[in-house]
Parts: sequence; structure tokens; C-alpha cells
Amino acid sequence: MLRTIQKIVTGTTQYDGAGVRLVRVIGYDTVEDFDPFLMMDAFDSEDPDDYIKGFPWHPHRGIETITYLISGDIEHGDSIGNRGSILDGSCQWMTAGRGILHQEMPKPVKRMLGAQLWLNLPRKDKMTQPKYHDLRADMIPKVEEDGSTVRIISGEYREVTGPASGDYVKLLYLDVSLQAGAKWSLRIPPSNTLFVYIVEGDGWFDKASKNFQTSKTALLFGKGDEFFAKAAEEGMRFFLFCAKPLKEPVAWGGPIVMNTRQELDQAFKDIKDGTFI
Ligand code: FE
Repeated sequence: MLRTIQKIVTGTTQYDGAGVRLVRVIGYDTVEDFDPFLMMDAFDSEDPDDYIKGFPWHPHRGIETITYLISGDIEHGDSIGNRGSILDGSCQWMTAGRGILHQEMPKPVKRMLGAQLWLNLPRKDKMTQPKYHDLRADMIPKVEEDGSTVRIISGEYREVTGPASGDYVKLLYLDVSLQAGAKWSLRIPPSNTLFVYIVEGDGWFDKASKNFQTSKTALLFGKGDEFFAKAAEEGMRFFLFCAKPLKEPVAWGGPIVMNTRQELDQAFKDIKDGTFI
């Protein structure tokens, strides 16, 4: 059965960190429908003033943050000793687990284009050891077929395996570029949550080309084992995210996402007491 669009979300422009202008595409309001995806911030700017203030030192607990840049340069550092930069075509996968402090500081580039996804952790793994994977551009395989180029950030596509698969929540994360008029389809587990974010261009996700979808839109799909996309004249590039929902209670306070209010209070108490990490 073909998956059809269930919900269309465009998000809102917000300022976060020390004043980074971004579009919060999914967030608090979409938690239930998009489970296990908590948040997705989209970046697309040719003006460094939008982002150079960055995200100075801040804590996270109970989630994984996955930052993928088509183009850009984000310098980062964290409390477990990692330092580096996320560059063009690279991805940083950070498991905050029981607690991490980090900073994310974008450097001026011609165009900063990418997204940060927050993936929830299952209750049993919320307090796991914090961990970090640097998925460099040269580790991310690319499958090119008639009219499509698919980069595999996480999971498997056409028997090609990406550099990550998700240690806690299995994640399929593809960066799909379609040329003008190209059709593309994918077999997927029927009841996993699936959403796409159209980064550039536009097209259709139904075989009759009835419902035209434009860039900077997130589309949540209903159940089904087949996914279909067709690009319009400008071509279309989208991120595809697919994972099994957790169906667990969510207690969310800023950068901390736990299951209960009590666990959230504990996290903030740990920060205050200096026992967070
Ligand atoms: Fe962060």
C-alpha cells in the first residue's frame, strides 16, 4: 500500500542558542504524530549574521542530536573531550544519554544549508553513556540511479549501508536528490513513522501528480509499505526519516527530554548541583 501524506508542517522561524535564526519545522506541537522524532531545525542562510552567534555551552539529556550539513561549517566541542567541525556533506551524531555539555558554533560560509534532528531515546536507554559519531562526508555512501542520487546517512538503501544505523532507535536517514521529472520509490516497514523534509525544489508524493508539494515543507506519511516521489521541473531534494515509534510518555524541558516530570526535575537539579555530567 502506498503511503499518503497525513500531515503537512512548515514550522516557524525562531531564534535559539545565542541568537541563531532557524526554522523549527517540527517540535513540541508535533511530538505525538512524529514519534520518535522530537524536533527538526532547518538551516538555510547566505547571511552569517543569521547564525554566527551560535549555540554556546548547553546541556542535553535523554536524546540524540543528528546534525547534517549539505553545506556549512559548525565548530563544536563537548564535555567528553570531542572537538571538531561539521563540514560540507558531513553529519554529527551525538547521543546525549545521561548527560553531555556541548557547544555548536557555525562559522561564516557562502551558504549554510542543513538540519538538526532530535531523535528520542527509549526509556531504557535515556541514561546511557554519552557518545559521539563523526560521520564525515567521505563515509556517507552515494547511490546514483536513473535521475536520483541518494546519500545514505543512516540505515540501508539498495543494499548499501550507511555509516550509522542507530544504536538505540534504528533510523533510516536518506538525502534524496531527484532530477527534473524523476520518479523514485522505496519499500519501507509499513508502520514506522516516516516523514520527509523538502530542502529544495518541489514535486509530488502521489502517483497521479495531484498534490503538489513545495520546498521547506515537512510531510508526515500514513502507514504503508511503499513510498513514492516525483520531482517537478526544478528537480527536488529532500531528507527522508523513518523509524519505529517509541510510544512512551514524553516530559520535555528545553534541551532535556525524559519520560516523567520527576526525571526532568532531577535533570535540572543535577545541572544546578554540578552533578549533571
Ligand atoms: Fe545542542
